Amino acid sequence: MNAAQRTEFFARLHAANPAPTTELEYGSPFQLLIAVILSAQATDVSVNKATKQLFADAPTPAAMAALGEERLADYIKTIGLYRTKAKNVVATCRILVANHGGEVPATREALEALPGVGRKTANVVLNTAFGEPTIAVDTHIFRVANRTGLAPGRTPLAVEQKLLKAVPAPYRRDAHHWLILHGRYICTARRPHCERCPLVDLCEYKGKALA
Ligand code: SF4
Repeated sequence: MNAAQRTEFFARLHAANPAPTTELEYGSPFQLLIAVILSAQATDVSVNKATKQLFADAPTPAAMAALGEERLADYIKTIGLYRTKAKNVVATCRILVANHGGEVPATREALEALPGVGRKTANVVLNTAFGEPTIAVDTHIFRVANRTGLAPGRTPLAVEQKLLKAVPAPYRRDAHHWLILHGRYICTARRPHCERCPLVDLCEYKGKALA
């Protein structure tokens, strides 16, 4: 895909959805961080169901740390890997209170030092809470980048690095959400919906099924 095609690719996604955002529900950078930690290998819908009551009862790092692992686990037990996540979330909350004045740090280094926070989670928080042009490569973005030929790569990190170069600057901040939503609802894993895809003429996927 050449530069003009990449610009057209994002111009169309922008036209269809000018202000894309996460489907996770949150009321502060802290709540976004917790929702993203909980969303590993879980759907946004399942996370939103659990966090509704959790965020109402424990909206801050201090309040969530005070719950302790057992009580926190009760709120999130419908989410996969909940015991490990409860442990990481409580440990993260304690660090936020002790080292960051109860705020979410805005640097990759400080974010990745938190338990349960890897590169992908840090990228989501930097992008969605702090407006940085980072791209968190999840399973949807990995698939769309490879299928379309936008930024092919063998690993999530390789795709992330290619995307940071391939996405035209004006679209870099929102690229992450456009690509996730495109992969979740149109370029789906088993049977992509090429017949209603706005990118079908730009896409290089050999298996694209034209309607
Ligand atoms: S044409 Fe098909 S394979 Fe290509 S991006 Fe659209 S849905 Fe995905």
